Amino acid sequence: MIFKVFKKKELAALYELLAVNAVVGPVRKGTDRHNQPLNDFARVYSFADLALDYSTTVHSPKRFVLPYRKDLARFTVNEQKWRKETDLDTERPVVFFGMHACDINALNKLDKVLAESVYPVSSYIRKRRNMFIIGLNCRPSPQCFCRSMGTDSVLHGYDMFLTDLGDKYFAEISSVTAFNFLQQIKCRDPGPGDERQYEAVTAEKTARFTTEVDTSDLTKILDLEFYSPAWDRWGRKCLSCGTCANVCPTCYCYGVEESVDLNLQEAHKTRFLYSCNLHDFAKVAGGHNFRPLASTRLKYRYYHKHRGFVEAFEESLCVGCGRCGAACLAGITPPEVIADVRGKKKCVHGREEKHDE
Ligand code: SF4
Ligand code: SF4
Repeated sequence: MIFKVFKKKELAALYELLAVNAVVGPVRKGTDRHNQPLNDFARVYSFADLALDYSTTVHSPKRFVLPYRKDLARFTVNEQKWRKETDLDTERPVVFFGMHACDINALNKLDKVLAESVYPVSSYIRKRRNMFIIGLNCRPSPQCFCRSMGTDSVLHGYDMFLTDLGDKYFAEISSVTAFNFLQQIKCRDPGPGDERQYEAVTAEKTARFTTEVDTSDLTKILDLEFYSPAWDRWGRKCLSCGTCANVCPTCYCYGVEESVDLNLQEAHKTRFLYSCNLHDFAKVAGGHNFRPLASTRLKYRYYHKHRGFVEAFEESLCVGCGRCGAACLAGITPPEVIADVRGKKKCVHGREEKHDE
């Protein structure tokens, strides 16, 4: 790893160098009902549009590599002949400015399934290859529990990772392209003072986490607690709306549908993201639904995140971003569900309570 330090105003110069490509970054979208800023990733056209002081975004960067809907193929019939066209996914490079460690870790996890498994997804791989990622150290919000999931820092999957040291940035460089871009702005090697400051800032960040999830032996505990009444308790609240999967940076389940246009001369094969919480997720040919209850579907989502994926890849599929809990209209949050399954009412920093039952 190569480290560099540069003055804050140099970041705008770096942006200008990179902005010959499409740039995506965190932008303010408005305020929520508590008058708190709402941020989301969007295409930006000026450095001033970037809200780099954001705590979290409503949606994750996932939607730029896994669009909600995508035509896999288009069929046309013309004078008794039919033609199939497929999207070659010749996307251009996209610069992602200010991605937090949890979201970079989320993309690294998606890679394991969508790029490195036996069934790679070509459109995803092309988009990932075209990404240039500038990561940014964050200030945890109350919903974040990435520290518990081991995803509050990241070792790979970015080109450059920045930590705000007040009047300057501390840059961790992990690609030749990033190194070459930094040669074009004023930067220097860090001295011992910069390194101590970096360590102090990261220690301060660690101390700011207020939500904690006990993940010790969680995979085994889920096996033991398959029939826990906690699943029914939370399942009764669940609206089966699928919002949690929509905002989650690591939910990748999808469906494929084929449709014929009304003129009977065009047809489409479309892939769309789906959620295991939706009522018909486990419905199969013949009409049988293997998970007809909201509680069984909610349980399945937790088992996929914290058990099935761990069995396959030795790590959880949850990065602890807290988006699902923040977006859930029923108030279902992973820290509370996991604490309940473990027999504890809450798992908020430093005060766990046993459940009454
Ligand atoms: S857990 Fe919440 S967001 Fe997810 S499906 Fe249920 S009600 Fe919707
Ligand atoms: S399950 Fe919830 S907390 Fe975990 S990565 Fe997905 S949205 Fe974030």
